[in-house]
Amino acid sequence: MLATRLSPYLKKLTAKHPAIYKQFVPSVKEENDNKITLVDPLTEEHFTPVRGLVHKHDNRVLVLLTMNCSAYCRFCTRRRKVSDIAQGVISEADLDNMVKYIKKHPKIKELIFSGGDPLTVPVILKKALEKFTKLSQIKVIRVGTRLMVSDPRLINEKVLDALRVVKKQPLYLMVHFEHPAEITLATIKAVKKLQTVSTMLLCQSVFLKGVNDNVEILEELFSRLIEIGVKPYYLSRCDYVRGAEHFIVPIKKEIKIFTELRIRLSGIACLMYIIDVPGGMGKVPVPADFWQFDCKQYTDFTGKKFKVVETKK
Ligand code: SF4
Repeated sequence: MLATRLSPYLKKLTAKHPAIYKQFVPSVKEENDNKITLVDPLTEEHFTPVRGLVHKHDNRVLVLLTMNCSAYCRFCTRRRKVSDIAQGVISEADLDNMVKYIKKHPKIKELIFSGGDPLTVPVILKKALEKFTKLSQIKVIRVGTRLMVSDPRLINEKVLDALRVVKKQPLYLMVHFEHPAEITLATIKAVKKLQTVSTMLLCQSVFLKGVNDNVEILEELFSRLIEIGVKPYYLSRCDYVRGAEHFIVPIKKEIKIFTELRIRLSGIACLMYIIDVPGGMGKVPVPADFWQFDCKQYTDFTGKKFKVVETKK
């Protein structure tokens, strides 16, 4: 099992909030696995043509810049290697190999930087962005991070300077919040700094048993996120990752919560509930439980039926 990683900031937060403690501090439950789960649930290793680059879809690739992370979320999909020092950081030679590979695949238009946390290695992130943003085929840049939650003081001038390299393309920051207690003053300050250099902050959250499997908690989380300028984007079912089985919420409970959220939340706080298919071929949206849409009629939030009005040709 890999080690716990807690910044002094996160140490204080875990001491105050059990929902945050459960996310970052190891539990004996991690040893009780029934073997349904997988070490690499999204089969990323299989789709890695050059070191650090995962290519599954024609139009986009994942760049795993580093396995370094300032936290170690116990449900992390890449817990097989996150924080494993031996995995190291991507080198300039690796970046050059990626550039060669991308040029040979002109359908690739979008880059998604992930890890680990790419913002923990601003020097190599800046180099990577300098190389990749020059490619005329690249139209969209995404960077995933949870640094504003795990160690907000690390959102510093070095990080912002690296992100400022992206000028031609829109820069989407894919952030990650699980519980409203993560939205502290320090985190809000870090979010505001990131907003000065990015096009938009989109939040990906995961249903986690004992952390956020509750309508009120998620309603508060997504409502507060739009108040600080972060758009809720995905709410996903926890991946079947080995050692994280105790975080998986019963599917019926998730659908019930998501359905209720759709009724309660403001439109811009609504997000897509998805399952990332084991085997790694994409994200499948899970429908809310009330539409009963059959192309002739549908049901609204209150159970009232409506006919679909079609125009005559
Ligand atoms: S912040 Fe992201 S990459 Fe780092 S441990 Fe958590 S889920 Fe994994």
